[in-house]
This record gives sequence, C-alpha cells and structure tokens, in this order.
Amino acid sequence: MEENLCPFESKIWLSSPTMHGPELEYIRKAYETNWMSTVGENINEAERMACEKIGCKYAVALSSGTAALHMAVKLAGVRPKEKVFCSDMTFDATVNPVVYEGGEPIFIDTEYDTWNMDPVALEKAFECYPEVRVVVFAHLYGTPGKMDELKEVCERHGAVMIEDAAESFGAAYKGRQTGKFGAYSCISFNGNKIITGSSGGMLLTDILEDADKVRKWSTQARENAPWYQHEELGYNYRMSNVIAGVVRGQIPYLEEHISQKKAIYERYQKGLTDLPIEMNPFDKVNSEPNYWLSCMTIRSEAMCRQIRGEQEAIYISEKGKSCPTEILEMLGKYNAEGRPIWKPMHMQPIYRMNGFVTRQGNGRGRKALDVGMDIFQRGLCLPSDNKMTAKEQEQIIEIIKRCFA
Ligand SMILES: *Cc1c(COP(=O)(O)O)cnc(C)c1O
Repeated sequence: MEENLCPFESKIWLSSPTMHGPELEYIRKAYETNWMSTVGENINEAERMACEKIGCKYAVALSSGTAALHMAVKLAGVRPKEKVFCSDMTFDATVNPVVYEGGEPIFIDTEYDTWNMDPVALEKAFECYPEVRVVVFAHLYGTPGKMDELKEVCERHGAVMIEDAAESFGAAYKGRQTGKFGAYSCISFNGNKIITGSSGGMLLTDILEDADKVRKWSTQARENAPWYQHEELGYNYRMSNVIAGVVRGQIPYLEEHISQKKAIYERYQKGLTDLPIEMNPFDKVNSEPNYWLSCMTIRSEAMCRQIRGEQEAIYISEKGKSCPTEILEMLGKYNAEGRPIWKPMHMQPIYRMNGFVTRQGNGRGRKALDVGMDIFQRGLCLPSDNKMTAKEQEQIIEIIKRCFA
C-alpha cells in the first residue's frame, strides 16, 4: 500500500522572494534620511555591486528589466520597420521593447543542448535577412547559451547583441558572467528572479557614453539648463532609492540563493532518475548556470495525449505515461506551483505572423515540430523555491512519480 500524501500546508511556490534582513535596514536608512526618490546611496551602491559581480564598467539602475531592455533597444538604434532577430523560447519582455520602437522581431528557433537560441538557426536567419544588425538574446531559466558560437555569427554579420540576462544573474559561461556578453545587457530584480528588489532592473554596458544616455533618457531626458529643457524623448524609468535598498541588501545573498537552487536541481535530477524524463540541460564543461528554475521534459514515447488550445488544455491519462498538464494539475492539487515552459513567441497570437527561422533537420526525427514547440509540448517548470525543504521536495518528486504510475 502506498502511503497517502497530504497537500502542503503552506504553498510551495515556483520561485518567491527571500529576504534576509539587511534589505530592511537600507530601506529604513533611506526613509530616515529622506532619500526617498530616484537618487541616493542605495542606487549608487547597488549599481557598484552589480558591476563588481558581473565585471562590467557601468550599470544603470532602472524601474524594471523591461525598461532596461527598452533602453538597450534605443541604444542599438532600432528604427521603425527594422527587422531584429530575437530569442523565441523566452518571456515576452525580451522582445516587446523591440516593438515599442516599431521594430519587427524575427524569431530564431531553440537548440536542445541549452534551450537557448540556436546558433545554426541564427546563421540561417542571416542568409534570409542579411540586412539585420541587432540580435536580442535571452539566457533561459538561468542557463547560459552557446555564447562563443552566437557571438561568432553576430560578429561575422556585423550585428550587435542585446543580452537579456534577466533570469541568469550570477550564471557564467567560460568563467565570464552573463550580462557581460552583449554590447548592451540587462538584468532584472522582479519578484520571482533569483534575487529581487520587489521590482527593478539594470542596463549594463562598458561604454560611458551609453550609460550616460540611459541615465538621461530614464529621467525624462532633461537637458543641462535652469528650466526643463528637452531635446530628446524622455522616460520615467529610473529605480527608486527604496527599491535599490532591497537590491543592495540582496546582492550579497546571490551566491547563497544559487547554491540552494543548485541543490534543488540536483535533488530533482537524482529523485526523478528512474522516470522517462530529462532535466533542463546545460553545458557542463563551459557553463555554470544559476539554476533559477528546475525544469523537465518528458520523453516523447512516455507522453500521454495532451491537447492545448489558446486558453486551456486537456489530456487523456494513460498507464506508464504522463504529460505536463497532468503533472501541473497534480502539483496544484497538493498546493505546489509548477508552470508550463514559456510558450515560444512564434506560437503567441500577437507574434504569430512574424518571421520564424529554424535549422533544417534537427536529426531527432521530429519533423513536425520545431524545437521550441517540442520543448513547450513536453516540458514544464518544477517548483523551484529556495525555501522549499528537502522533505517537501521529496514529496513533490513522489507526486511526479505517481503521475507516471
Ligand atoms: C523577468 C524577465 C524580463 C523582464 O524583467 P522585469 O524586471 O520583470 O521587467 C525580461 N526577460 C526575461 C527573460 C525575464 O524572465
């Protein structure tokens, strides 16, 4: 007889904020000294610490990662109607800023080794659209992409890379931190990221002039005059000194969060080893992920039938098999939060008419599906909260096992 499992008393989150104490002290200091606007010591310190961690020269603290990406797209000079190559399997905040500027995202399919933009498909895209000069790349779930190959393709075609490291703060590729690969890079302090300010983001660059432009644009593009003088379009995108206090307090805990997330990934890997599944992969030789989210894909032959419409999904349960919908439903029943893989951009109604480039013949005999669609179909994000105990995780593993029983 199998023992009964009870629902978790307090919800197990996908990834929730974890505060440590110093955050509150920095907020309090901002309050007590009345530095409650978008200037102050917390902002300066948070920027300095991010630069020190990532190894970039300049960081500009902004209201969100999306704002940082928007500023990056402005710096790259994207014009209306201009085509821009973008990661396909990512959160839509990666690509929306291209559209804010009137650009047209062309999506590049994903590769199976790291679940990031496929350099082979990128090369093919340049054959189709040689005029493209900007590539927006995102490191998905905290796993670095194939940076050498991607950078080589970009350089050969004279394109600049905007690097979206929103999910990968602290991850490294060949000893170099993500956020250090783009001409313009971005990180995010959104509430579900590996560390958080409750919200916030940063634009990272090695070019002083670009950092200064973003400082100016993000504070309404005021000119150096006694009155409000404007020569350029401005934005209200600067980070608050209160939010920066949280960020400043969190950065020293980045490594601790990464090791907790790594332990979670490894427990899943070990616990699920007998199932017909794979964990989200990474390049074990060249990269060190931040393990932000643990994910898995179910092998094709172990997938029960699952049909997804625009808003809902159905599946037919089958012995020895399962599907993301069934597992997510079961996790939900036990008060644990998983999530489908980020639905690829080329499958999104808003972007369905945009260009999409795949590599031909991925050698896996799945001709009907592109890689992004395949991972979306078979994959899910597992509860990855760093406050989840080993015991709680054991129960989650047991729930997943029962889905395949
Ligand atoms: C969270 C996220 C963003 C946006 O960051 P915000 O701070 O929420 O605006 C951008 N890209 C990716 C890949 C993200 O996961």
